[in-house]
Amino acid sequence: MELTCWGATCSVSGSMHLLQAAGRNILLDCGMFQGSWNESFQRNRQVPFDASALDAVILSHAHLDHCGNLPSLVNAGYRGPIYCTPATRDLAVAMLRDAAHIQEADAEYINFRRSKKGEAANAVPLYTQADVERAVQPLISVPYQSWMPLGKYVRFMFLDAGHILGAAIVVLQVDEGNGTQSFCYSGDLGRDHPRILRQRDLVEEMDYLLVESTYGNRQHDPVGQLEDELTQVVREAVDRVARVLIPAFAIGRTQEIVYILHRLQERAAIPDIPVFVDSPLAVDVTEIYRVHAECFNDETRGLLRNNEDPFGLKRLRYVREREASVAINQVVEPCIVIAGSGMCEGGRIRHHLVRCIEDAKHTILIVSYQATNTLGRRLADRETKIKIFGEEYKRRARVKILNGFSAHADSEELVQWVAAGTRKLKNAFVVHGEEHQSFAFADRLRGLGIPNVVVPQRGQTFDLDA
Ligand SMILES: [Zn+2]
Repeated sequence: MELTCWGATCSVSGSMHLLQAAGRNILLDCGMFQGSWNESFQRNRQVPFDASALDAVILSHAHLDHCGNLPSLVNAGYRGPIYCTPATRDLAVAMLRDAAHIQEADAEYINFRRSKKGEAANAVPLYTQADVERAVQPLISVPYQSWMPLGKYVRFMFLDAGHILGAAIVVLQVDEGNGTQSFCYSGDLGRDHPRILRQRDLVEEMDYLLVESTYGNRQHDPVGQLEDELTQVVREAVDRVARVLIPAFAIGRTQEIVYILHRLQERAAIPDIPVFVDSPLAVDVTEIYRVHAECFNDETRGLLRNNEDPFGLKRLRYVREREASVAINQVVEPCIVIAGSGMCEGGRIRHHLVRCIEDAKHTILIVSYQATNTLGRRLADRETKIKIFGEEYKRRARVKILNGFSAHADSEELVQWVAAGTRKLKNAFVVHGEEHQSFAFADRLRGLGIPNVVVPQRGQTFDLDA
């Protein structure tokens, strides 16, 4: 068996790992690398191996940093199956269509700017809507907990990862020589007792582990504290007749916030104020959540049994049309606006920020991880001069950060998850974390007595049988 990590090495972007086992070339995830336009374009376009020589692609989940470069892979000649859970299949289609739309709009905007400067308007989108439609054809859904063969000697199974709807841990078994080796890819792991979704499964038998480390060196705030803090933010906004703007990813965070607001209103912790989910993608994704109750935990199923809508509130509006989005500006009462994108790099949140950022009564509520060099990170760092659409604004709106919302396990949760499976574990490869998170987490894993723990470099190949 050989493993080459082609992305998410000392970073959280572009997850893509090539596993060569028993003559099969298997790609684990095909994520989009996110950086500056030029760098992203080059890196995503140039698939660093022979795409036509792959036998299978397995997706852990539908976040774009795990599935967003599938169209480039298909354009580079991949013609085989792409396996994922049923919910991931639905979400990946929605996410990729949206991504193509953004790529096309960005290319158009860059060409507009270039031609204004007298430069050649030759930017092209990384991929188009048509590329996406071709790339999603080979998506094959495989339910959790069922073995799927990949040829005679290799099989895999999806287990719950508890991260976002449909997210999976991938366990592969490879028959080699006289024995069977098992390889586990964690994908992205959720927290203990996630809202809405079932908790991540434990994997007790594994020889090799490829594990994420997003928060390998950090612990989250307790969950109860988070609900109290959210309550306080909403109540203060009501007192000031102000807005709470929440930049949120369309998958997961949006549904979680709505779910918590639902619960807070049920027990009258917060008043019944208008809530807007202002994102066509989030509207689509919420519809996909509704039809995949197979991923829900007992509490969420309980709500459904009582005919309660976990993704509804009395005064909640899901906003798809642009005109309805603009009309939110006319609302004079205190309200909550949840809009994409999660790091404020695109989407309608930027329009709401422009309107509110210079007024001290409003609150910008950061509920997700913010990568370096994003508008969201500059807000989270409480910078006072903020550029949006090329214009500079003085930030007077308050910024509040709630960390407990994370869809990622923290360092203790990650260590505990790995610790349950160390009996046979020989090698652990630590990926999907910024450098200091990955190295600190690798040290924690060495403390568990795992014989070989590595933080791979991009493109480094490991012979697992050596
Ligand atoms: Zn993820």
